Amino acid sequence: MHARNIFSKGKPTISFEFFPPKTSEAKENLFTTILDLESIQPAFVSVTYGAGGSTRELTHDLVLRLKKQTSLDPVPHLTCVGHTEAEIDVILQRYAEAGVSNILALRGDPPRDRSDYDHTRDTFPQAADLVRFIKKFTGHSDPRGFGIGVAGFPEGHPSTPNRLLEMDYLKQKVDAGADYICTQLFFENRDFYDFRERCDLAGISVPIVAGIMPVTSLSSMKRMAELAGGARYPARLLKALQRAGDSPEAVRQIGLHYATEQCADLLDNSVAGIHLYTLNQSTATREICQRLGITK
Ligand SMILES: Cc1cc2nc3c(=O)[nH]c(=O)nc-3n(C[C@H](O)[C@H](O)[C@H](O)COP(=O)(O)OP(=O)(O)OC[C@H]3O[C@@H](n4cnc5c(N)ncnc54)[C@H](O)[C@@H]3O)c2cc1C
Repeated sequence: MHARNIFSKGKPTISFEFFPPKTSEAKENLFTTILDLESIQPAFVSVTYGAGGSTRELTHDLVLRLKKQTSLDPVPHLTCVGHTEAEIDVILQRYAEAGVSNILALRGDPPRDRSDYDHTRDTFPQAADLVRFIKKFTGHSDPRGFGIGVAGFPEGHPSTPNRLLEMDYLKQKVDAGADYICTQLFFENRDFYDFRERCDLAGISVPIVAGIMPVTSLSSMKRMAELAGGARYPARLLKALQRAGDSPEAVRQIGLHYATEQCADLLDNSVAGIHLYTLNQSTATREICQRLGITK
């Protein structure tokens, strides 16, 4: 379903994010996870695109499998890094033929071993350029073309310390044709509300979906701090985790409780949608949905 239709229903969406695994065993484990979460009937599920485009085929294969074997509505991520116009055109064509309705358009992380990667040399230096290109694509059966999502950063993107300019850049993505914004994970709802108000002041009026990741273990927390550069862990959460000591189950319960409270507060404050970063596991996602009373 086109993003504009998804968000026009007037009630907050629930969506999940998966990353495409590499081994056949991990692929089957993920599919068990997906089937377990299918009954919650999320509005959509998104599938990441590995850093530097490293999972191009894996992302495509998982998206097609979701289309063919489940009732879920997959949203593939697509990134600018290293891609030519011809390559993006082929990818769009394949998704259009498979009946994919929406794409999350991102600049993308650089390849893992290239921290000095120069995005300005890419055909699409910024996500806004990719949004413009997707918008011009005419091969989709929906006359509106693909629905397009873009990334937003409630705590700011680390590469643009000028927070005023950053909002101008975000507005450029929306003006280029984005239908919704999905945010980076955050642990302090005030950051999200402030971001939403700043979007409002900048004239950005598309729905903003809040990205939430429950802490399920101290190691996953450390990994996410690395991946979601700049994410702030509030003292309130850290103190609670400290009380859990070295009990993995207590850490998990605290993480779930914290994420559930965050989601409940967001729902009370008219969030357009909640996007749960599942890390390819179903248990935490299912428990949060249950605690929120939204399990089908
Ligand atoms: C929800 C979500 C999903 C993600 N999924 C993936 C994924 O699947 N694969 C992956 O590789 N990465 C993913 N990322 C990470 C993302 O690609 C990186 O954070 C990337 O650095 C920023 O992407 P963007 O789309 O926001 O880029 P952009 O909007 O292009 O912004 C990138 C940087 O450039 C600045 N900028 C924007 N426009 C201009 C301009 N005109 N002039 C100068 N500076 C400008 C921005 O302020 C920002 O600092 C995801 C991030 C989020 C929040």
